[in-house]
Amino acid sequence: LFITLEGGDGVGKSTQAALLETWLTESGHGVVRTREPGGTELGDEIRSMVLHRRGHIAPRAEALLYAADRAHHVSTLVRPALERGEIVLQDRYLDSSVAYQGAGRVLVAAEIRALSLWAAEGLLPDLTILLDLDEEASRARLDRSRTEYDRLEAEASEFHARVRAAFLDLAADEPERFLVVDAGLPVDEIAGLIRERVRAKLA
Ligand code: C5P
Repeated sequence: LFITLEGGDGVGKSTQAALLETWLTESGHGVVRTREPGGTELGDEIRSMVLHRRGHIAPRAEALLYAADRAHHVSTLVRPALERGEIVLQDRYLDSSVAYQGAGRVLVAAEIRALSLWAAEGLLPDLTILLDLDEEASRARLDRSRTEYDRLEAEASEFHARVRAAFLDLAADEPERFLVVDAGLPVDEIAGLIRERVRAKLA
């Protein structure tokens, strides 16, 4: 079973991944928890290239770096674990590429998806949990103390709104694969909703 967690920054993906991992392990399942970008040694190198590099990366180069990370990760870690019968719990996957790179407005979502699927040799998750937080709540979470609302912040929040809308569109296109959860709910309630869906997948 291949499960991915998606959503904007600061919506609580890591918290939910950890809770789900504990529950699955206690129920006797073998679990591999991983993330993208990263998850492998090469992936961590790519992660620091794309996330911590100062300066501009051409959008197509950035998309290819994410795709390279994904290709290596799927081939060396995810597929082998699935073949051993383990559950793979992954923080971000191809939907993040489509939502983030597509929201930059330079690249076309369908092309990013095609590139991602090529990189992953067609591997799609059995279940994708989308933690969805409305804009106001996510801004409040990211920065409770700031009162000023400058231009940069306005641009950033517009970008996040596009990322959020892109995720919701993806979920609407594939309702079978997605579980959309309101990330503003209490942590335990979110965990309960996730477990319910995972239990159904395992049955
Ligand atoms: O959640 P995490 O810290 O791993 O994500 C870091 C950032 O990487 C995201 O906020 C997003 O900007 C970027 N990202 C991306 N495309 C992906 C995966 C992550 O743009 N496929």
